[in-house]
Amino acid sequence: MAVFIRATDNLLRERFTMAHELGHLLLPWHLPNANCEVGEGALDLPTYSLEAEADVFASCLLVPDAWLLHQVQRFGDDMSQLLRELNAAEVTTAAALQALRRYLLAGWVFVSYGERQVITATRGTRLPHASTNEEVVAYLAGECHAQGEASLNGFPVQWYRMVESVALPQRSPDDVRSDRQVLLDAIAMVEPDSQRRNSIAQSANGKVGGALREAGGRSANLTFQAVRHRCEQWEHSKLLAQPDFLLWLAERSRAVETGMTKRRRPKS
Ligand SMILES: [Zn+2]
Repeated sequence: MAVFIRATDNLLRERFTMAHELGHLLLPWHLPNANCEVGEGALDLPTYSLEAEADVFASCLLVPDAWLLHQVQRFGDDMSQLLRELNAAEVTTAAALQALRRYLLAGWVFVSYGERQVITATRGTRLPHASTNEEVVAYLAGECHAQGEASLNGFPVQWYRMVESVALPQRSPDDVRSDRQVLLDAIAMVEPDSQRRNSIAQSANGKVGGALREAGGRSANLTFQAVRHRCEQWEHSKLLAQPDFLLWLAERSRAVETGMTKRRRPKS
């Protein structure tokens, strides 16, 4: 097996291409592929393909999770600084944004201006059903809670934080309710029927459980923001107006930070 890489004057691009091709060689289900389209490809599309998979492999190799975790812990919500660190890491814009999409929680959107304008959103981020990039950018600018800009490889990248940064609610010291009771008390404020309350509680655990599993290793604050954002796209989103519901989300987010959540059972 031979891999041929065209020599260019773009070192970052060549490193990304090499990492991408290595992905094809090392991922056992990738058949040798005669022709690769590597580059600023369809990173903004959620479609699955071997090419997209090799791009993810390249981004994991060039921008490892452990390094990203360290940067996120250092800079938190300061996305401009995080982008400056990625710029110093000398990877392509595509690899950098792919890494952020892989690693950050719901609620972040990036608009990059390289060879063409690309919109990259983290999983679970709510975007409008708009037909043009201009409409999406106008929505982001109007709805975001924070925005900023940094330069990646000489081109601007605008970032938008669509989640609100609010302090985690604290349980008062004389509140001895279980987490489940806190949730049920919140639901009781919006649903008089006790049968339906149980099904809403189930739905809440399902909605939040998936988001919490993604959040392993993040701070309770980042987790809380992302989970709240996910709940905005939920049939029972009116619960977000209930202080007990926010308290429940905060307690679940703190449990993720300290590793107190149920792990999925390992395969036996
Ligand atoms: Zn490929």
